[in-house]
Amino acid sequence: MDVLFISIILAIFCSSIEGVKPKIQNALVYLSQYGYLEPNAMGNSSLVNGKTFKKSIKEFQSFAGIPTTGKLDKLTMKMMSEPRCGMKDTTGRSKRQKRFAIQGSRWKTKQLTYKISKYSSKLGREEIDTNIQKAFNLWSKYTDLTFEPSSRGKIDIRFEERQHGDGDAFDGPGGTLAHAYFPQYGGATHFDESEPWMIGAGSGIDLYQVAAHEFGHALGLSHSDRKDALMAPFYKRSWTNDLYDDDIQGIQRLYGGKSGGTPATPPEAPAAPPPKTPPPRRNRPRLPGGWFFPRRRWIIRTRRRWYFPQGNRRVFYG
Ligand SMILES: [Zn+2]
Ligand SMILES: [Zn+2]
Repeated sequence: MDVLFISIILAIFCSSIEGVKPKIQNALVYLSQYGYLEPNAMGNSSLVNGKTFKKSIKEFQSFAGIPTTGKLDKLTMKMMSEPRCGMKDTTGRSKRQKRFAIQGSRWKTKQLTYKISKYSSKLGREEIDTNIQKAFNLWSKYTDLTFEPSSRGKIDIRFEERQHGDGDAFDGPGGTLAHAYFPQYGGATHFDESEPWMIGAGSGIDLYQVAAHEFGHALGLSHSDRKDALMAPFYKRSWTNDLYDDDIQGIQRLYGGKSGGTPATPPEAPAAPPPKTPPPRRNRPRLPGGWFFPRRRWIIRTRRRWYFPQGNRRVFYG
């Protein structure tokens, strides 16, 4: 960033510091975190004008299956406050049919192993073991994938709090519940230890459901914009304890159907080559309700535009 650019930004900042409502700030951060606002190619900033902001809200509303008003109405704010997966809601969303999305990588073997390296203090070890295996079994039910616990397991599972070494801090109770890495990055799956983990429906967060969803990512699925998919990003207050048609179609597209069972859909064209190094993930900034400078991230508003530069550490997630 050159001196002139910094001067311009500072001048704009000093002349326009008040006036952004916390709800707009929060929405900007949410939309950016979950993939609805992209940084532009100039430096590491993005310029968010009213039109772009409205468009991104509409895209979120469409993904979330609520009326696409383009406004930060009550329902939209409510959806933004729902507990959810930390992965982005990727896209190609504009005109595609509502359905599953494939990230672009998959495991070459169908015999997968996993290990739970760090347990939660909220549940018993045995309870966690059982439900992690059950969550994997849901994906085995419709494919020939198998999952075995092993001390040298490929898919590493951990319960972690706040910063935990991968550049994507958890945010405490509520908000983000978990995140996972796609096959090309090893499939590691992290759960936010701050959540009130439990098994089954209730006032807490059902580990079985969240694990089943995250393992969908670890196997190569991105978020679905079908409300009735397990791979939809939001936590389900009620769940059928099974995959939905959309999830089954997605996983069978990647790994084929169950031998002698449900028919496989044809394999997809070869996936795009993965980037050479995994782009690190970034943290979710916490907004105190005023102006903020968490690391290299800040928001500035002029009369008509929001300037929303972000760190170099761009998220790749879907
Ligand atoms: Zn997810
Ligand atoms: Zn993590």
